[in-house]
Amino acid sequence: MLNNVLNITKKLISIPSITPEDLGCQKFLISRLKKCGFFIEEFNFKDTKNFLASKGTGRSFLFLGHTDVVSPGDIKKWNTDPFVPQVIENVLYGRGSSDMKGAISAMLIATERFLKKNPYHLGRFLWLITSDEEGNGTNGIRKVIKILEKRKEKINFCLVGEPTNEMLLGDCIKNGRRGSLSGKINVEGIQGHIAYPTLSKNPIHMSLKFLNEITKYVWDYGNDFFLPTQFQIYNIFTNNFSNNIIPSFLQIEFNFRFSPLQTVQSLQNIVNFLLKKNNLQYTIQWKLHAKPFFSSSKFLINTLSKSIYQIMKIKPRITTTGGTSDGRFLTKISDEIIEFGLKNTTIHQVNECVHVVDLKNLSQIYENFLSLIFL
Ligand SMILES: [Zn+2]
Repeated sequence: MLNNVLNITKKLISIPSITPEDLGCQKFLISRLKKCGFFIEEFNFKDTKNFLASKGTGRSFLFLGHTDVVSPGDIKKWNTDPFVPQVIENVLYGRGSSDMKGAISAMLIATERFLKKNPYHLGRFLWLITSDEEGNGTNGIRKVIKILEKRKEKINFCLVGEPTNEMLLGDCIKNGRRGSLSGKINVEGIQGHIAYPTLSKNPIHMSLKFLNEITKYVWDYGNDFFLPTQFQIYNIFTNNFSNNIIPSFLQIEFNFRFSPLQTVQSLQNIVNFLLKKNNLQYTIQWKLHAKPFFSSSKFLINTLSKSIYQIMKIKPRITTTGGTSDGRFLTKISDEIIEFGLKNTTIHQVNECVHVVDLKNLSQIYENFLSLIFL
């Protein structure tokens, strides 16, 4: 019986569940949760495993997490084998130690301890776990939520165990995430011989003023919780490889990370306005990856802050920075979502690691939090 958070984290790290593989991590979690009295539903689609565990009735709280990890990358650069957990000077090394097998292990220990002390707790306690958070997420939480939506599941509070802390365990809670919107603009020119530019239209030259304007545009100033909306071009190319041709088009690929001060429509309107203002002939394709979400629940933030303070004696900052998470799909069924896990300093890097003491402290923070939420 693995009965401490370090040993469980080690066990999970030793399973090389590179996204979207699960390879038995969930089987282990399910067997432990069953022993605690949870009812389990599995939602396995193609190469992805997901499960929902639930127990009790009434006001509901859900732990959200993932068992998959990103690839270790260049194994030669690791000081240890990424899938053979090793503790060196009180630091545990291994892929997934921080993102987020450590946090899942802390959730499990917290759940088991809480239920042992409070077998007759009030409320409904749930877990939702996927093996496709780090990949494209097609068969992960996105799909499970569609099923839960259909059967009109409602969750009051959700905690996502993603690594949120920057310097110290407990320094950062996320109560929302920015949205992510990508686009591809195709600026049309007229192809021709480079020696006769008057007979063609150079889409690169024509786009320079637009590119200058859009990269300097101030979309908004952000607010207390969100950074200003940001626009980044990540690729520009033409179909041209010869030095005597003016290309027929220029493709510009970009991404927005946007706050709730913007909508998809407002961003699209401004991009179209700037393109038209510069007399460009263009087509544009959009892809929405995530809408922004924001949780204003004082109850959830205060309860978690209190639990953190009891263990770490620090007050967390409340922010919405960073990339998107599966929290975005939960907005469809959950009223309030908050994120809190381990430190994010080494996630997705070589030599990903976690302080052993952080694992223990996180499990205690989660346990305190459960007692405050359910009692
Ligand atoms: Zn993660």
